[in-house]
Amino acid sequence: MRTVDRDRLRALIERESALYVETHPGSQQISLRADHLLGRVPMTWMNKWAGGFPIALSTAHGCTITDVDGNHYVDFALGDTGAMAGHSPKATIAAVRERLEVSGGITTMLTTDKAEFVAENLTKRFLATQWSFTLSATDANRFSCRLARQVTGRSKILVFNYSYHGSVDETFVALDEQGNPRSRPGNVGPAVDPTTTTKVVEFNDETGLRAALAPQDVAVVLLEPALTNIGIVLPTPEFLATVQSACAETGTLLLVDETHTFSLGYGGAVQHYDLKPDIVVIGKAIGGGIPCGAYGVTKALASKIAEIAASGADIVDVGGVGGTLAGYALSLDAMAATLGEVLTEAAFEKMIELATAFTEAVEAAFVRFEAPFSVTQLGARAEYRFTRPSPTSGGEAHRAEDEELDTYFHLFLANRGILITPFHNMALMCPDTTVQDVDRHTEVFTQALAELFQ
Ligand code: PMP
Repeated sequence: MRTVDRDRLRALIERESALYVETHPGSQQISLRADHLLGRVPMTWMNKWAGGFPIALSTAHGCTITDVDGNHYVDFALGDTGAMAGHSPKATIAAVRERLEVSGGITTMLTTDKAEFVAENLTKRFLATQWSFTLSATDANRFSCRLARQVTGRSKILVFNYSYHGSVDETFVALDEQGNPRSRPGNVGPAVDPTTTTKVVEFNDETGLRAALAPQDVAVVLLEPALTNIGIVLPTPEFLATVQSACAETGTLLLVDETHTFSLGYGGAVQHYDLKPDIVVIGKAIGGGIPCGAYGVTKALASKIAEIAASGADIVDVGGVGGTLAGYALSLDAMAATLGEVLTEAAFEKMIELATAFTEAVEAAFVRFEAPFSVTQLGARAEYRFTRPSPTSGGEAHRAEDEELDTYFHLFLANRGILITPFHNMALMCPDTTVQDVDRHTEVFTQALAELFQ
């Protein structure tokens, strides 16, 4: 196995940074002129893109992006899954246009005939039977936690180390070097110390999970069946079965957050791993780019929610579960078209095939250059990590983070027309991605490795 020559790496970053500035003058100007934007970007996390300023969008169709300087990219970032259906999918755009230009009524507080279609489609995929809508997966997780606490009468939730479920206050806990829970490093202005509201266990740690649930004070376990926000960490074959039995035995609700693991197929991780959660959360991809989110519950849990509502929990007004635009007509139209016509079984089959080809090519390149790196596939998604073998827990994945290597590969790829997520190194296929797109990535990525390990 080769080791990375850090001096060489830094010299390459310098060269690629200079090339980035030279070939993105329009993007840089937009950033320099943005005196009235916090952090000079419309959302502060956009500063995560490598290169000192983000690329400025001109057009995006399918998996192709063109920036204001006329540079073209194969987009494997796909809005960190928000554009998993491709940019501006035709069916979604037709439905949205219909609402905007013909029917009217973007947001009215009224139901539409699309809502039941969307819920039925989600039920077919994720098995939960009663659905409610939000504008983000964050909100779907937040409202689910509230409902779970009210239904169980328990105060705590449980998350896995270095998972991410959106900006939900209670979830920002992590384990320190000694394995003790603490507020996650960088947690911004927590209302209370989140270790008072939340337990945290290492992903794939069955013993730790059983011990944490034993006191029966946890309302709900928030589970991404494979971690995707600290690189991809796959579950061991036994782990998910243990999560389910430990929850069942302790009367703890199980929430599966499918927001990213949906890449596993038409029915996401729920069907791929044969899971039986009490709550399923989904967002991003199902709106084809229009803000959306949803949480679905089992019939049994729906009855309990009806009971708490009957005994005073306010779920129809200002009780903490809601949002004025949640479930609005435009987002339901977008979800109906995206679920019904774009993210079909056939589309997933093709996307997963391409991700397999992507993963195999990256692995072959690592072997060829004896690189101490690894790649993991999660259906239509793949991710490389600068450690080998692939991490098996969030803590391990966190310790393996390598900002310099991230920067080098992101810049090298962007300078040659390839985008991957600005957070770590995730690549996603959409229904428009082609074999040629994957081959282009392989070619450029191999070139980046060759220069690093020459
Ligand atoms: N759950 C998971 C697993 C996610 O990865 C994310 C966002 N990356 C969210 C929830 C939150 O999604 P949103 O930002 O759309 O609310």
